[in-house]
Amino acid sequence: MTRRILVTSALPYANGAIHLGHLVEYIQTDIWVRFQRMQGHTVHYVGADDTHGTPIMLRADSEGITPQQLIDRVWQEHDRDFRSFSVGFDNFHTTNSPENEALCAEIYGKLKAAGLIATRSVEQFYDPVKQMFLPDRYIKGECPKCGAKDQYGDSCEVCGATYSPIELKNPYSTVSGAKPERRQSEHYFFKLSDPRCEAFLRTFTQTSGALQSEAANKMKEWLGAEGEGKLSDWDISRDAPYFGFAIPGTDGKKFFYVWLDAPVGYFGSFLNYVKKQQDAGNTIDADAFLKPGGDTELVHFIGKDILYFHALFWPAMLQHAGYRTPTKIYAHGFLTVNGEKMSKSRGTFITAESYIQQGLNPEWLRYYYAAKLNSTMEDIDLNLEDFVARVNSDLVGKYINIVSRAAGFLTKNFKGLLAPEVISGSKTNSPLNFKALAIDEEVSKAYENREFGRVIRAVMRVADEINQYWDAKKPWELAKNPDASLALHEICTDCVNAFYKLTIYLAPIIPKTAESVANLLGVTPPLTWSDLGTRPEKLPDQRALKVISQYQHLMTRVDPKQIEALVTANRESLKPAAPAAKPAAAKAPENTVENAAATASTEPAHISIDDFSKIDLRIARIANAEHVEGADKLLKLTLDVGPLGTKQVFAGIKSAYDPATLVGRLTVMVANLAPRKMKFGMSEGMVLAASGDEPGLFILSPDSGAQPGMKVK
Ligand SMILES: [Zn+2]
Repeated sequence: MTRRILVTSALPYANGAIHLGHLVEYIQTDIWVRFQRMQGHTVHYVGADDTHGTPIMLRADSEGITPQQLIDRVWQEHDRDFRSFSVGFDNFHTTNSPENEALCAEIYGKLKAAGLIATRSVEQFYDPVKQMFLPDRYIKGECPKCGAKDQYGDSCEVCGATYSPIELKNPYSTVSGAKPERRQSEHYFFKLSDPRCEAFLRTFTQTSGALQSEAANKMKEWLGAEGEGKLSDWDISRDAPYFGFAIPGTDGKKFFYVWLDAPVGYFGSFLNYVKKQQDAGNTIDADAFLKPGGDTELVHFIGKDILYFHALFWPAMLQHAGYRTPTKIYAHGFLTVNGEKMSKSRGTFITAESYIQQGLNPEWLRYYYAAKLNSTMEDIDLNLEDFVARVNSDLVGKYINIVSRAAGFLTKNFKGLLAPEVISGSKTNSPLNFKALAIDEEVSKAYENREFGRVIRAVMRVADEINQYWDAKKPWELAKNPDASLALHEICTDCVNAFYKLTIYLAPIIPKTAESVANLLGVTPPLTWSDLGTRPEKLPDQRALKVISQYQHLMTRVDPKQIEALVTANRESLKPAAPAAKPAAAKAPENTVENAAATASTEPAHISIDDFSKIDLRIARIANAEHVEGADKLLKLTLDVGPLGTKQVFAGIKSAYDPATLVGRLTVMVANLAPRKMKFGMSEGMVLAASGDEPGLFILSPDSGAQPGMKVK
């Protein structure tokens, strides 16, 4: 039976670059989708950028552009990165779309009609300068336990205490520096605590088969015992100003919280795709995928951090708004690099763009991730040494090796022609092909269950056997003996034929390489599972192997130097000495619930010389340096910048320098940084300092002879 499946990956947040952590999920989903297509099933794979919310609004503001300009730019970057890694969305859309807005309004209307929307007053921090309510993470202050400064509203990085933001002493807005006020505002809630939602979720999470068992157990915990009332209503509104969709009937004063319209964005993207297909003359019955009662499947791939949204809020909303609920929610773990959390200072916070820029082959990463992926929510580790070893020894050394050795003899001794009696052969004259065919079921089952590591192990096991057989038969000796020509022809043909079968198995993982192999062997891509030739229907003649073209390199080995360069390119060693002068959005903690996918902003690994020349670096003489009353980290510097006059800069270097020792020194400053109003006054630039993982800060000094005002370039 042909399955019809709508597949999604979580939506990346539109305020930062795609990195190798994100790619785990996109590659995992893409492999599964490609496998289903090779089986002949109908799959629609959609995604979108998650574009709404306060972080986007503030980031755009700090860059001096509109949110629309920001999300358009980021969309281009994300789309480029997905293409680079062969992540084959049928439609990569945006949540800021008319389709999505209409769906959100409709779903909200139905939930309201069902009595599942409530309003109540909520007290929140308000920034009187910026004139907006602020999410808690834009509030900092002193730890109520130990008094450490500049701590976030939920926990102290110094003593580890956790508390609520209202307990912070001397709180300030990280957006404007102003003292925030507590203000009341009316919020809208989805009544998740309603008995109808609870009853539905007990069934959905425990008996529908939609969740992995470990996820279902987690839900049991969150749902609690019957009557325990563990589910809380969900706040789905935010006050203007907000970048998002206005809630109908609120005169533009209230907006849907980004987390409401993000999952709805899956459907928005799908409807946009259906429309585009319609315009191209292809009809897709959208209702068959979105409304209950049909035989289609809805499959979500997500990270384990967003289970709550996808396993509770989203299905409960769909159920009570007349939509179908998910068939499967597949959650995966996080990526670690070399056994640790990705880190900018270690250079392991690696962007997709920098990976490509360093000339690394995306199929290497797809292969490595596949080798590590299974159906659980365990974290997966990208060990960079192991990455080099596995790609070189397994993918190239075992798999590619088969064809690179056999192809030479075939083209040189047999004009590239394969022995037909071996291609259509029996177990006796094509033992290797039969070894390859024997793992069909094992491989298919592993793909279906997202056990991609098993696929790789099965394929490499056969690759080992083929290579051993080759070594035992010594074709290089047969080639010297004219009487052994037939044997040589048969062995080489069998090897190539078996290699072809392994390629079909690996095609979902390394699609570009599989395409090159198909071209080498004279078969029109894309390859499908029926190309194995094991199905009842006979393989059409034009898809049977006959001849091999002149062999060209299918894949090179990884040079460890490339990995070193990649890590260097992603290492952030120069940090501005005045952290408060950084845009607030860039300091938002990662993996917060406001972001649909685990996202973090990061700078691209390479900039053009034009980008660099935008920064006006100047030699400055520290004319005066003094403590700032009430500031824990800052020194107030008066800088003599020669012809540019004097500038006042607050620098976060108090921990490292006694002000008296700084007076008279030359250093380097960013002279054209937009002046920033800080708690203690205006800061008109930034001095540069080095820092690393170890404590310590080191401001830069020019060689003797440099004069205040000189340009650094
Ligand atoms: Zn503390």
